[in-house]
Amino acid sequence: MSAIWHPFTQHGLNEPIPLVDRAEGAALFTRDGRRVIDGISSWWVTTHGHNHPRIMAAVRDQADRLDQVIFAGWTHQPAETVAQGLRALMPAELTRVFFSDSGSTAVEVALKMALGFHAHTGTGRSGIVVMEHSYHGDTIGTMSVGERGVFNAAYAPLLFDVGTIPFPAGDGDNTLSALATLCRDTRPAALIVEPLVLGAGGMLFYPPAVLAQMAAICRAHDVLFIADEVMTGWGRTGTLLACEQAGVVPDILCLAKGLTGGSMPMAVTMASEPIYAAHLSTDRAKTFFHSSSFTANPIACAAAAANIAIWQDEPVRDRIAALAARQTAMVERLADLPGATNPRTCGTIAAIDVVTPDGGYLSTLGPRLLAHFRDNNLLLRPLGNTVYVMPPYCLDTEDHARIEAGIAQALHNLA
Ligand SMILES: *Cc1c(COP(=O)(O)O)cnc(C)c1O
Repeated sequence: MSAIWHPFTQHGLNEPIPLVDRAEGAALFTRDGRRVIDGISSWWVTTHGHNHPRIMAAVRDQADRLDQVIFAGWTHQPAETVAQGLRALMPAELTRVFFSDSGSTAVEVALKMALGFHAHTGTGRSGIVVMEHSYHGDTIGTMSVGERGVFNAAYAPLLFDVGTIPFPAGDGDNTLSALATLCRDTRPAALIVEPLVLGAGGMLFYPPAVLAQMAAICRAHDVLFIADEVMTGWGRTGTLLACEQAGVVPDILCLAKGLTGGSMPMAVTMASEPIYAAHLSTDRAKTFFHSSSFTANPIACAAAAANIAIWQDEPVRDRIAALAARQTAMVERLADLPGATNPRTCGTIAAIDVVTPDGGYLSTLGPRLLAHFRDNNLLLRPLGNTVYVMPPYCLDTEDHARIEAGIAQALHNLA
């Protein structure tokens, strides 16, 4: 009997919890001798594949030199290399790199930077605008800017109020007019959005033109634009950043999951020069007061530096394009099966909905699908009645076909 209390796991359902011994590429190997295909990149983090030789070599090498050092007032080469690499790879306007440990902390840092900017420049603005169905993390601040529901109902007394714009319908006029009204009437500090794809909200996609217009409205009203690319970053939507497809450069950018290729916990919040300049002073009260014990851990930085080098030297974009084309072909075939609806892809992300009378996260369909996929040696984790595939970019055609067959079989069983 394990003492572990697992995340997002209802232990009362007594579902089996497989023990994973090792991983390679798109495959996980369990203690009981199974080879499981990782169809969701171990919760959206693994980009190039598990145990990538270049990343693991960098980790091993760094582990021999420097394990950990305080980052307040000290620095080290792996962090400097990551910062230089991000400056080279990410939009030129994002001149500053702040390290933290997870997507949630990257978002908390972004919110604090936005509030700090307005406090130190004396604009009197403090509110945050968010999009309906968004997910930005599970800490108190990130739950506050995320969709309210069963996930956070018990903690609602601790959450702060935000302005909410609707998810874009059609050409997004509903979203844009709501945003313009909120920006004019409530003078908020910032808008935070997941660009192009609302992940945990159910793999909901909206067009780049809407993203571009949201950014333009923010700019026109002096509202900071925060892009939470924790999931969409590092190629997931077909480009390095989803914002690229809209020609948008955010004021503040959150990156995590794929930053280390998914191998180590680490995040960065990148900021434009005016955000940094607002904190720059001989007045110690304007210091950016945020830190965690392991900020910019050298071993995690070595993994991130290796990931950045892979993006710089290898044809990652070609691999992504090839995978994206196969994903599109897969959902088009699956959509022809009875019980499947709303096929959609955005870059390497493919999703379909299963027709059910009770949609939503607690749909009874979820546990049945989960069990089916587990029995078929597939790591797929439907969001309610939405089945999605978000594999590592190294997934080969054979394993891809196994995923497709597993989903087709699930639809067949349900019909
Ligand atoms: C996963 C996710 C987060 C939270 O990241 P953690 O590393 O799990 O804290 C934040 N925003 C988005 C869009 C995410 O998908």
